Amino acid sequence: MTQDRRVRVRFAPSPTGALHIGGVRTALYNYLFAKKHGGDFVLRIEDTDQTRFVPGAEEYIIESLKWLGIEPNEGVGFGEGPHAPYRQSDRKPMYRQFAEQLIAAGYAYYAFDTAEDLEAMRERLKASNVDAKYDGITRSAMKNSLTLPEDEVKRKLENGDPYVIRIKLPRKEEVKFHDEIRGWIIVNTSQMDDKVLFKSDGMPTYHLANVVDDWDMKTTHVIRGEEWLPSAPLHVLLYRYLGWEDVMPKFAHLPLLLKPDGTGKLSKRDGDRLGFPVFPLDWEDPKTGEKSSGYKQAGYLPEAVVNLLAFLGWNPGTHQELFSLEELIAAFTLERVGKHGAKFDQNKAKWYNQQYVRKVDNHLLAPSLKAALALNVPEATFSDEYIEKVCGIVKEKISFVKELWDYSNYFFIEPANYDEGVIKKRYNEKVPQLLSDLIEAFSALAEFSHSNTEAAYNAVLAKNEVASKDFLQLFRVCLSGVAGGPPIFEMVEIFGKDKTIQHLNKASASIKG
Ligand code: GLU
Repeated sequence: MTQDRRVRVRFAPSPTGALHIGGVRTALYNYLFAKKHGGDFVLRIEDTDQTRFVPGAEEYIIESLKWLGIEPNEGVGFGEGPHAPYRQSDRKPMYRQFAEQLIAAGYAYYAFDTAEDLEAMRERLKASNVDAKYDGITRSAMKNSLTLPEDEVKRKLENGDPYVIRIKLPRKEEVKFHDEIRGWIIVNTSQMDDKVLFKSDGMPTYHLANVVDDWDMKTTHVIRGEEWLPSAPLHVLLYRYLGWEDVMPKFAHLPLLLKPDGTGKLSKRDGDRLGFPVFPLDWEDPKTGEKSSGYKQAGYLPEAVVNLLAFLGWNPGTHQELFSLEELIAAFTLERVGKHGAKFDQNKAKWYNQQYVRKVDNHLLAPSLKAALALNVPEATFSDEYIEKVCGIVKEKISFVKELWDYSNYFFIEPANYDEGVIKKRYNEKVPQLLSDLIEAFSALAEFSHSNTEAAYNAVLAKNEVASKDFLQLFRVCLSGVAGGPPIFEMVEIFGKDKTIQHLNKASASIKG
């Protein structure tokens, strides 16, 4: 039945704090699935548990999706659609009728137990070593509309006594459903409990609101984290009891995002401990004031984050690792999502960023380098063309845009220090002569290209009977001060004649064996 319907998926976070990257991955997979099938991607805010509401969390979720370029086409913050409102607290009036429908059909009941009653039940059952849950057995000893006389139930409701509405599960019945990633799942209701669906304050619980909204919003596929798998049998029963089984969405429960060592779910604490963000954007908890860093502010590019998250749980079945969003849409299938937890790999994350930094146009990198230049050498005047060339050659060496200055400062200022290890290893009595010959040979060049300078360099080394491998690294250190960097003669070409000679002069005056 669902095959014939327009694909509609939703991301349904609860605004309880910053959005974890595991949640971002759920949003991404929903986005990819929707786009692949020409369907809709909806953002629904599940805020039925008002005690866990955190101000700013909803805006944070919206900003995160915008930054990553995986925007819903319908939902909170993304334009009202035909199923508005999309925030559950704004939908409050619509849920009660369904809780009452379930009661009328014998699939739910009122329960009037106080916190003390529930606690006493738990103690009683614990004493007899029985799993303490409100279910087909224990409900008969509790205060509910199945055990109390009808007139007492009526009186209590009229009095406004607090109550909850619980689902009435069969004692022993198999609930079977298909998960697109995990295959057939069978759970016996004897393992489940009579979950609360609705409270007397008029608020549904997560379970009822989730099912009612997916039905109302015509959701065709529920793609969500593995932590919701235990709730799925209950949801399946709710679809059945509400008469919506023929339009029940397909389920796909995504594997967990694990710590780098695979020992458990990736948490904010792991990120703090190992030095990587677990949130897309910086976040300050409004209650505790605790700050957490985000991928954006840590210098990650959104394309890199999308690409790396796509691979935490999914793979294309080929060796290709770099995928644009468009390519991901084309390649993504639920069949290729794994069942087992995906380990977060910090080095891989950096690698992805490095790949995407290399793809950024030089003129887009230039402002960042210019800003660092203005800060470090306010009097400097370099042409845009020069700065862009520097960006072009240095971007191959960095993982983050903010590293540009550190890796390129010698293109703008003379080295203040020279790598001591290299000097110790490579300096010998021939070096002063080599440097002075190089200065002379370079000065004579009419065209200062990388091939011309390389030829001149080789000629000087041949004349002095020095092998390039014994001098090249020292040559680099004379020019830049540091042992590593971009291809050396390309660097020399960008330096130009004056700067190259200036740096070699300074080196020959400064470097002593
Ligand atoms: N509100 C749930 C969450 O915070 C959503 C579960 C679902 O997608 O059904 O993740």
